[in-house]
Amino acid sequence: MKRGTVLISLAALVATGVAALGFAPYLYVESWPYLNTPAAMSDAPVRLVKGRMFDDYFAIQDLGDGAHAIGEPRYYQANYSYLIVGEKRALLFDAGSGTRDIRPVVKSLTNLPVTILPSHLHYDHFAGLHPSDRLALVDLASTRADVVGGRFSPGRYEFLGMFDELTRPSVPVAEWIKPGATIDLGGRTLRLLSTPGHTPQSVSLHDPQGRRLFTGDFIYPTMLYAFLPGADLGVYRRTADRLLLDFPPDTRLWAAHCCRRNEGYAAPWLGMNDLADLHRALQEIEAGERASTGFFPRRYHVNDQMDIGTPLFSLGH
Ligand SMILES: [Zn+2]
Repeated sequence: MKRGTVLISLAALVATGVAALGFAPYLYVESWPYLNTPAAMSDAPVRLVKGRMFDDYFAIQDLGDGAHAIGEPRYYQANYSYLIVGEKRALLFDAGSGTRDIRPVVKSLTNLPVTILPSHLHYDHFAGLHPSDRLALVDLASTRADVVGGRFSPGRYEFLGMFDELTRPSVPVAEWIKPGATIDLGGRTLRLLSTPGHTPQSVSLHDPQGRRLFTGDFIYPTMLYAFLPGADLGVYRRTADRLLLDFPPDTRLWAAHCCRRNEGYAAPWLGMNDLADLHRALQEIEAGERASTGFFPRRYHVNDQMDIGTPLFSLGH
């Protein structure tokens, strides 16, 4: 072979390798349904550590100060949504996985009108949305871009419904909320924070009355996913940095996936010390100073509550 041909072949090989790494998150999500059997709902009896069962599927836990956790302990991802009740209306942070209809659970907790605000657009938080629900969304260029004909429908790689063989909901947006804006529930206000990292559209909700932050999938016990399409390690680290500066050390972080290590089924929570550990881990991952295992996702230990999974190379900035 001529030298030029060898060089061209090598360049093509390198380009293919780089492209494959860049597309790894997309290959991962597209191949997942072919390589895995969709996890059915667990038939094992649920033993709650706190709270009570609503029926044989949903768990309810009163967090005090008008907030309730609504868990799906039998769902394979053990999602938790949160209902915060004011004097005039209530806000449901995440719509659940849609495995069962969450609306009767919400109705059992409040008679007030309910607005649903998703922490992000992934199927396990968004698929429970019903076309007649009152949807509030973070006002970003990327969420506005998903509105067609007056209805919002998340993109294929924003929703990731292929994991549960779900079709994307299509719902009118009742309320656009700017990052940093307050949400008046009557007698209490919440504040929406843009907290990208897990996904670009991820938000957290600050509840000053309860001295807590509902974090969605930004931080939760078990393994954080920073390797799916849209995740960005540099953005993740900067968000963690901002939250550490903005909130006092006694802020309780209520997360969207169960469970705390060695605790069992209960609304999952973490502290600001866990956020500080995550921030440190992200700094060290960026600097190449933290040991990892695995290839995709590459897994880093954060602390006794958390690991974080990342792509082999971060394409972030
Ligand atoms: Zn999730």
